Amino acid sequence: MMSTWEEKVHKVTPYTPGEQPKNQDVIKLNTNENPYPPAPAVKKILDSVDYEALRKYPDPAAAGLIGALSDTYGVPRDQIFVGVGSDDVLAMSFLTFFTSGEKILFPDVTYSFYDVWADEFRIPFDTVPLKEDFSIDVDGFCKGTAGGIVIPNPNAPTGLDAGVDALEQIIRTNPQCVVIIDEAYVDFGAKSVLPLIDKYDNLLVTQTFSKSRALAGSRIGFAFGSKKLIKYLNDVKFSFNSYTMDYITQQVGMASLSDPDYFRMRCLEIINERERAKKEFTRLGFDFPDSKSNFLFVHHQSKSACDIFAALRENNIFVRHFDGERVHDHLRVTIGTKEQMNALFDFLEKYLKED
Ligand SMILES: *Cc1c(COP(=O)(O)O)cnc(C)c1O
Repeated sequence: MMSTWEEKVHKVTPYTPGEQPKNQDVIKLNTNENPYPPAPAVKKILDSVDYEALRKYPDPAAAGLIGALSDTYGVPRDQIFVGVGSDDVLAMSFLTFFTSGEKILFPDVTYSFYDVWADEFRIPFDTVPLKEDFSIDVDGFCKGTAGGIVIPNPNAPTGLDAGVDALEQIIRTNPQCVVIIDEAYVDFGAKSVLPLIDKYDNLLVTQTFSKSRALAGSRIGFAFGSKKLIKYLNDVKFSFNSYTMDYITQQVGMASLSDPDYFRMRCLEIINERERAKKEFTRLGFDFPDSKSNFLFVHHQSKSACDIFAALRENNIFVRHFDGERVHDHLRVTIGTKEQMNALFDFLEKYLKED
């Protein structure tokens, strides 16, 4: 029998993003988006953008945006990489640093894109189980034999911050591979490992405009690392597609960085609302890891997560539920505005009193 073309297809199971409901009345606490608008400077640039510039290809090096990131974070330009969302940055990094054939490591409960990329690029992996309290098992990452390591900090969907010392121990004990710290949520109160890029040339730190800068729709991610690391990353990126980030997005990113006060104010509002939410959830009989992110990973002492999820959904409040042995009785709730959170707590208060 002749083989069919379908046997030659690289079959993968894609990542499932959180639902984006068409109904605008929904209270959307399911995808960790920022409930506030992007910086006013973003609106200004969109109102005045030079549309004729779209005739030309965009700057493939995104030099303007890289310059603005360099000024904002105090990192030399040749140690910064930008991509179309940090998903793009992470995918490029897996392709560049994790395809040696050796097993990479990440936590068992973590960002659910990691195993998708590993499968996509045929990268073998092992997971290191979180401890009972959902904290990172540092020793499990310090054996010095991994082909690569990726850890989000704060971790998703737990929200826990491992702390710089624990992360440094992991980076220091694994000079044989690249260690990626995915800091998608770092602006909500955790300390960044960014200063360590000068000490460890195997450290890549990724961040994003999607959450703390309220620009998930623009798709801007970036990474910091040693000159060597960034060069390897750029070589792979430019062997793939030079013009990934469009002209308008580059302008939008620069505009966002131009208003650090607005950025800090909004992050602080979300942090304050998160701390209030911790009190409310506790009062309502929930427990959760102590989140340093813009979401809480909550578990109720008597009602099942599936039941609460369905009841919330029926009342147009969307949160995120994950299958999986260790997490199926938890819900990940994004921190919204005070009004949104009050609506959530009002509903839960009534719902949990029933029967
Ligand atoms: C949201 C998220 C990302 C990806 O964000 P982008 O929108 O692609 O920048 C990466 N890692 C984690 C842990 C996330 O939660």
